[in-house]
Amino acid sequence: MTKLFLIGLIFISSGASSQSSTCFGSTANGSLKNGVELPGKGKNYVSYSTIARLAGRTYVHSAVKTIILNSYKNLQTSMPDTVFKYAETGFEDGGKFRPHKTHQNGLSVDFMTPVVNDKGVSVHLPTSPFNKFGYNIEFDSSGWFEEYRIDYNALASHIVELHKESKRLGFDLWRVIFDPELQPNLFTTKHAEYLKQNIQFSKKPSWVRHDEHYHVDFKIPCK
Ligand SMILES: [Zn+2]
Repeated sequence: MTKLFLIGLIFISSGASSQSSTCFGSTANGSLKNGVELPGKGKNYVSYSTIARLAGRTYVHSAVKTIILNSYKNLQTSMPDTVFKYAETGFEDGGKFRPHKTHQNGLSVDFMTPVVNDKGVSVHLPTSPFNKFGYNIEFDSSGWFEEYRIDYNALASHIVELHKESKRLGFDLWRVIFDPELQPNLFTTKHAEYLKQNIQFSKKPSWVRHDEHYHVDFKIPCK
C-alpha cells in the first residue's frame, strides 16, 4: 500500500516537472502556454524578489528553466564560492510584461550582474522595492556600485554555461544584452574566445542601460 502510494506520488511529481511549454510569436509580441515557474532559490542562486515572484513574474518556457537550472548546477561545481541571482522573466501565459519591451513568450530572462564586495567575496546585489528590485542600480564606468564590483569572470562563466546547456538540449542563445561600455571587460576573462565564437552581444546601447542586469534571449522554436 505504502509502496503504491509512493510510486503514485513520484509519478505525479515527475509529471508536473516534465510539463513542457509552447511559445508563440516573438519575444516582443508573443505568448506562452504551460509556462513554468523558476524556483525561489537553489544552492548557489536566488530570485530577485519574493514579492515579484508571488506576483507571477518569474515564469519561463520549460526548456529555458531546464537550461537555467542545469547551468547553475554546473557553476556550483566550477565556481563553488560564487552566488547568482536571477531577475524578471515573464508571466505564466506570456504577453505584455511592463515595463519591458520583450519578455513576452518565455524566452527572455534577466539576470542580476554577479558582484564581489570590497573583500572580494561573491555576494548578491541588493534588490528590493526601494531600488526598483535592483533595476535602479547604476555602476560607474569602472564597474563599481557602492562596495560592489562586477565579477566579470562569474558573468562570463554564466553566459558560457547557458550557451553550452542550450546546445546540449538542441537549442541556442539568440542574444545577450549587456552595456556595450562594460562588455570589453568580458573579453579579458578566460572565456573571451568562447564568447567571441558563440555569443551574439548587443552592439548598441538599448532603451535602458543593462549594467546591473544582463538580458538573455533563448533561441527555441515557437509557433
Ligand atoms: Zn530583459
